[in-house]
Amino acid sequence: MDMGHSQPCKHQAMPTKDPARPKKLRIAIDGPAGAGKSTVARKVADILGYTYLDTGAMYRALAVLALDRKISFDDHEALGEMAASVNMDAREDDGVFRVWIDGQEFTHRLRTPETDRAVKLISMAQPVRRVLVEIQRELARRGGVVMEGRDITSVVIPDAEVKVFLTADVNERARRRWVDLKNRGIDMSFEEVLAEMQARDAKDLEREWGKLVKVEDAVLIDSTDMSIDEVCRIIVGLCEARQRCSTV
Ligand code: C5P
Repeated sequence: MDMGHSQPCKHQAMPTKDPARPKKLRIAIDGPAGAGKSTVARKVADILGYTYLDTGAMYRALAVLALDRKISFDDHEALGEMAASVNMDAREDDGVFRVWIDGQEFTHRLRTPETDRAVKLISMAQPVRRVLVEIQRELARRGGVVMEGRDITSVVIPDAEVKVFLTADVNERARRRWVDLKNRGIDMSFEEVLAEMQARDAKDLEREWGKLVKVEDAVLIDSTDMSIDEVCRIIVGLCEARQRCSTV
């Protein structure tokens, strides 16, 4: 873990009305696919009693809708209009992060190989990003959230109280994804999953808007040789340190 420039107590103290009752933080976690963001974010939210928000699922749901409506992934304006014209409801329910669009549930279609391919394309459309960033900012506004994605620390909530960049070696990330697909009955070779992962990394790092970056004050955690619990302990520790800072 690289604490970089993010010694938590260097932040300005945040005034809290009641020092005995810690302020509900906004925890922003970015990182590449397969780094363990979802598992870690969900668990940290559980430990702290916060709301877990999976922003990738929101991009995925819009990608499925665009496929259904046969909108070209090159037509960014049409994709943006589609995004702006629907009502999206995204929240954890019964241990699963679910997304509804105009009352229809998309959850079961979010993690197929077809959606994996489509979401890379829709996440390049700036008009779509603009709509989702607004929704995500609103969801984070009241605090008490653990939000994970690619542009959370840099664009959505750059002033989040706790910022983490969670990564892992690409082979390890591909292995985790391969196991996950296998468990869900999707048969792909490890090499195919690795190639897909590398292609997604390239798109995440190179796109013009909302690209994946480690902001200077995010804490870098490399989970390659770490357990989920170890990563969670570090993040909960960062939150505790941040809360101590806010009550001095
Ligand atoms: O995290 P997950 O793999 O589910 O994200 C799905 C896709 O959505 C990724 O390809 C990623 O590039 C994109 N995404 C994004 N911005 C976010 C979250 C996800 O562009 N905040």
